[in-house]
Amino acid sequence: MKKKIALLPGDGIGKEVMEGAVDLLKSIAEHYHHEFDFEYGLIGGGAIDQTGDPLPDETLEICKASDAVLLGAVGGPKWDENPAELRPEKGLLKLRKELDLYANLRPVQAYESIADQSPLKAEILEGVDLLIVRELTGGLYFGKPSERSHHNGEESAVDTLFYNRNEIERIIETAFKLARERRKKVTSVDKANVLESSRMWREVAEEVASKYPDVELQHMLVDNAAMQLIRSPKQFDVIVTENMFGDILSDEASMLTGSLGMLPSASLSESSLHLYEPVHGSAPDIAGLNKANPVAMMLSVAMMLRHSFSLEEEANAIELAVKHVFESGKRTADLADKNHESLTTKAMVEEVKEAM
Ligand code: ATP
Ligand code: MG
Repeated sequence: MKKKIALLPGDGIGKEVMEGAVDLLKSIAEHYHHEFDFEYGLIGGGAIDQTGDPLPDETLEICKASDAVLLGAVGGPKWDENPAELRPEKGLLKLRKELDLYANLRPVQAYESIADQSPLKAEILEGVDLLIVRELTGGLYFGKPSERSHHNGEESAVDTLFYNRNEIERIIETAFKLARERRKKVTSVDKANVLESSRMWREVAEEVASKYPDVELQHMLVDNAAMQLIRSPKQFDVIVTENMFGDILSDEASMLTGSLGMLPSASLSESSLHLYEPVHGSAPDIAGLNKANPVAMMLSVAMMLRHSFSLEEEANAIELAVKHVFESGKRTADLADKNHESLTTKAMVEEVKEAM
């Protein structure tokens, strides 16, 4: 198989974990006889420094001419004081918008062998394997009006939780399709006892569910979902929810794994071009030290191989290799303690390649 992959390393540890991803992809190409062509693009702070633009047109063109996009991370203290239009994050937001990446998939898997790093008890974590499907282009973060106003000496502010039926339909459809490939259960999270948008969300979820009789649909209020994620995370298979609810719940769920360095993500569009990136940021505190955990990025590569290229066997090989490496007691600094020596980023990538 021949594929073209756009590589956007970005800033900070984004660059380091991207090197690991490329290393891993080369090894897969060789082993399974595929051809991956890499095209590098600038994004974020580095792009601002070199071109004055957090998302140069050239980068967008490279992405659009590729079969998939792999992103490291953007941002860092160097650009924190920049004016709004010259912030690294602007580049990523614009890229999401330009590629219409409406579904953010964040799988959360608890590995027994690193459970000691989670604040939750090992027996609660055992067997946790869930997928959060967060709506990414609508909801509370994009509804209009979103503004401040002054009236009769009183200051007020408003944000709007807005959805079209179509927007809800496409994200719920995505969740059901994914559930079909998993344990066939969708938990639709809303606040239907209070919000009109949630009542419509629930209606649409019911309608979509009628087309998937083999998949179980459960509704759950978001406050209860936040509690259940800690009390008994095993009950979840696919969680689908509104933009902000998904933002909050997925950060909460990251603690089921023990480190931000463990979580991959995929952002899907309705076209065949999707983007894959680790959930973590550029981690300026450890940038350049060769100690970042590359696992979130390697698992993002696995998601790319599965979702964009249908390379199930190769994706499984990466995931199993990661599991194997943890089982053999090897960890990077974020997960290490006095009982575990800590591996560098590069050493961790080598371990995973070897296990694969
Ligand atoms: P951003 O604004 O870019 O999202 P942030 O400060 O919100 O940045 P991260 O950059 O993800 O979040 O870092 C948060 C903390 O987690 C930092 O202390 C960082 O060192 C740690 N961290 C994040 N990713 C990793 C990783 N892959 N390996 C090790 N530690 C990590
Ligand atoms: Mg962050």
